[in-house]
Amino acid sequence: MKTKEIHSKTILSSSQVYDYAINPYVGCQHACSYCYARFMKRFSGHKEPWGEFVDVKINAPDLLLKEIKKKRRGDVWLSGVCDPYQPLEKKYQLTRKCLELLIQNNWPVIIQTRSPLVLRDLDILNKTENLQAGLTITSANDEIRKIFEPQAPPIKDRLRAVEQLHRHGIRTYVMIAPILPEAEDLIGSLEGKVDYIIIDRMNYHYADWVYAKYGWGDKKTDDYFRMTANKILIECKKRGMDCRFAY
Ligand code: SF4
Repeated sequence: MKTKEIHSKTILSSSQVYDYAINPYVGCQHACSYCYARFMKRFSGHKEPWGEFVDVKINAPDLLLKEIKKKRRGDVWLSGVCDPYQPLEKKYQLTRKCLELLIQNNWPVIIQTRSPLVLRDLDILNKTENLQAGLTITSANDEIRKIFEPQAPPIKDRLRAVEQLHRHGIRTYVMIAPILPEAEDLIGSLEGKVDYIIIDRMNYHYADWVYAKYGWGDKKTDDYFRMTANKILIECKKRGMDCRFAY
């Protein structure tokens, strides 16, 4: 893993999903096989495989303090093209410092992560009602998680994290995206732990080799995603849970 501390020029970038996105890191240690964010390699000039480099924007909080004074207030997504709670966040605490500033200045925040490290920041997340925290969980089967997301935290830890956030009164969601095999079996374990669920199909080709290796070609077709999305919707409806398609 190659880690480099860098000084970024800006931190609050415009986003197509929410008004803004903050990415305190370039690169992601979770190294998911299907990750669309690997296009960042092109922009950052990195030659290492995705997941084996991270640039740490050590001036992120200083930049944010200046930028929130100048820009129109809007929804901020943490993060978009990295996981804001990847392991390096334990040491650098950039996500935490950015969150503190956003919350102090009453900017709305949407957190999205695969890591229970988000629980470290419960003390500040509790200070606003203008915040949602989501865990991405893509299958109910941890063996499948290990195949697609070997470096990311286990499913049970993510379920525990979302449950605790919810118990602390934070608006929570689970993002089932991309829908991986056995995603439909997740719904029962989310009952009472989330305010809503977001689902999306696999839209990228980076993990095609995984589907080929395991003979799962039929699990990456329009029919498969339609059928699985329907199963998820039915399970949610049975339990009175709010389920939406992504964006
Ligand atoms: S956690 Fe998100 S950003 Fe990180 S590798 Fe996985 S999909 Fe990509």
